[in-house]
Amino acid sequence: MTATRVLVLNSGSSSVKYQLLDMRDSSRLAVGLVERIGEEASRLKHTPLLGGEPREQNRPIADHEEALKAVAVELAQDGLGLDSPELAAIGHRVVHGGKFFTQPTVIDDAVLAEVERLIPVAPLHNPANLTGIRTAMALRPDLPQVAVFDTAFHTTMPESASRYAIDVRTADEHRIQRYGFHGTSHAYVSRKTAELLGKEAEDVNVIVLHLGNGASASAVRGGRCVDTSMGLTPLEGLVMGTRSGDVDPAVIFHLMRVGSMSADEVDVLLNKKSGLIGLCGDNDMREIRRRIDEGDQAARLAFDIYVHRLKKYIGAYYAVLGRVDAVVFTAGVGENAAPVREAAIAGLEELGLTVDGGLNSVRSDEPRLISPEYARVAVAVVPTDEELEIAQQSYALVRGPIPATTERPGAHL
Ligand code: AMP
Repeated sequence: MTATRVLVLNSGSSSVKYQLLDMRDSSRLAVGLVERIGEEASRLKHTPLLGGEPREQNRPIADHEEALKAVAVELAQDGLGLDSPELAAIGHRVVHGGKFFTQPTVIDDAVLAEVERLIPVAPLHNPANLTGIRTAMALRPDLPQVAVFDTAFHTTMPESASRYAIDVRTADEHRIQRYGFHGTSHAYVSRKTAELLGKEAEDVNVIVLHLGNGASASAVRGGRCVDTSMGLTPLEGLVMGTRSGDVDPAVIFHLMRVGSMSADEVDVLLNKKSGLIGLCGDNDMREIRRRIDEGDQAARLAFDIYVHRLKKYIGAYYAVLGRVDAVVFTAGVGENAAPVREAAIAGLEELGLTVDGGLNSVRSDEPRLISPEYARVAVAVVPTDEELEIAQQSYALVRGPIPATTERPGAHL
């Protein structure tokens, strides 16, 4: 029997998201989420996609090990257990891969040690990722486990983009540089955009705007990232749901010296209490639009600051690339918020960028163009799919090319 399935695990500090995919047609067999791990009110929500109703458990789940074991039981109930010979690999999202992990990597002790060594530059994410990996390895020690790094796609950046202009010795000693994040999304979306344009990825230059609760922009030349807006951590760049994005670094010393705040307090301020939520009290773009329609001035200003930053990055990456074939919007805000897309592109006609109002207002889950036919540069919406990208990269690494078959996945369950 050919193993054609991949389990994708995304382990956060208090949550585990998972999807089981069949690589023959990229279909989902089951998806789910365990949240509030370590709290009294933990919750597991499992959705089988081959038939059957979603199931929910509301009970305390102490740690990631207990969470993954509960997920394994749920999958087994649907005949999709982790012991299945059809499972080819488990693909793990790992947020920080530093400079050296440029590709998806089969996890062994050396890889675990390196991911652990990177904890100081990803203190929130890498420990949770490691716990998820170790637990999955204990459950299926014989199965290839693959790390797919959020940073990998950005390792092609030239040093002129990745190095900060600070003392070289200090930067190198502390491994301070621009790493970038959301890489699996930027990789997937830039490749899909080339497909949408009917061209090879090598032949197109794309500006990708990943606008979710976290947000980042990237400049992709011929399929390779040449610049991205997130930096040492996912705090730099665009205005986000709760993160400030770019600020003058002196704001931090000022708050510490004059505002008597500790480094940890400033960290919380910029990561959790800034961005849209800091500006207007809401981080959901739907709510902000609703408030704007009611004439709310704080919501209006938050929206304007968000869009202004976005426009600056479009201009900057246009200049970095020199020639742009497409500007593409993705993730929660990018895929759904037509007013953000319209406002970000407004006034850029001299750069060949225009949005067609009718096309922009269409709601769809498909990749689509929202620029008029005559436009010199395409503007597109391409839904991201990080889980599929992780599954495909993991499968390709351990098994080679995706199996072609006309057999319906799940038919032999
Ligand atoms: P993500 O991190 O990609 O899941 O994106 C989550 C964010 O997408 C939410 O915080 C919302 O701000 C935004 N979002 C989701 N749906 C919509 C929508 N229909 N209109 C505007 N924003 C949306």
